[in-house]
Amino acid sequence: MSPDLLVAGVDVGGTNIEVGLVSADHQVHGRAKANTPTGGPAEVLDTIAELVQSLGDRPIAVGVGIPGVVDQGRVLTVPNLQNWTEKVDLVDELGTRIDVPIALGNDANVGLLGEWVAGAAVGVRNVLGLWMGTGIGGGLILDGRPFTGSHGCAGEIGHMVVRQGGALCTCGRRGCAEAYAGRRSMRGIATAMVDAGRSTSLFAIRDEEQKGNLTSKVWARALDEGDEMAGELFDTAIETLGVAVGSVVNLLDLDLVVIGGGLAEKMGSTLADRIADACTPWMLQPNPDLQFVVSTLGDDAGVVGAATLGRALAVSA
Ligand SMILES: [Zn+2]
Repeated sequence: MSPDLLVAGVDVGGTNIEVGLVSADHQVHGRAKANTPTGGPAEVLDTIAELVQSLGDRPIAVGVGIPGVVDQGRVLTVPNLQNWTEKVDLVDELGTRIDVPIALGNDANVGLLGEWVAGAAVGVRNVLGLWMGTGIGGGLILDGRPFTGSHGCAGEIGHMVVRQGGALCTCGRRGCAEAYAGRRSMRGIATAMVDAGRSTSLFAIRDEEQKGNLTSKVWARALDEGDEMAGELFDTAIETLGVAVGSVVNLLDLDLVVIGGGLAEKMGSTLADRIADACTPWMLQPNPDLQFVVSTLGDDAGVVGAATLGRALAVSA
């Protein structure tokens, strides 16, 4: 197979779907982007197919990263996308729209894969990817290979319980890290605090920035401007992630933690350093070699990682 053949990498997020044509050296050539439809799986699949077709060159395979629980590499539930209430065999369904091999992965796994082949984690043997967004995603490289577990569901650090009987999580359970550190949960807590009489600039900044939501940009600005309530919520988020990441380090003896998502792009090494500090009290023994860095590919991590999955499938087919 010629290395010049292009694979389409698809990064499905809560707000946007991004598609790129990626060459074997992990460079992104053509790109296309659309808002993530809110009408459920069929609309999302139609949009992916349209974006891939709009790129012109026909890819040899398509890889898709999506914020859901991927079972057996094909079927998934996607609680963070609107009106996606049932399990969908995405490989079959997308296959009826695009007639090339289709690979599927969880968005955080795929994001870390992108960083591992072409970004902050190249050549590193044991890596945790921590993706801070609407939810908290995680991915793992163990012993020099991507690790997705028996059914493709590994790495769900956002649903590690950090406080037994704690806050209600988007997954319906209590005390998960995501219930304190995922943006959707943080917006819920912020709203409840405002209802209880606290003041914050978060919602005014949201309106000023003409965002429909408390995006990472809104949080970053509120923190920058010294908003007290935003600072408290963010401190809790970081402390919570420290418990989760510290526990993972104890379990897996890692070399590197890569932090991705909008806040990582906006805050850079400050965010990585804060999470590193928050882990320290929970670590069984000091690990001077353990590094904490932010993603270097930014938004491209998902597209490059998804294309890597697609290329691996095309090569093995
Ligand atoms: Zn949860």
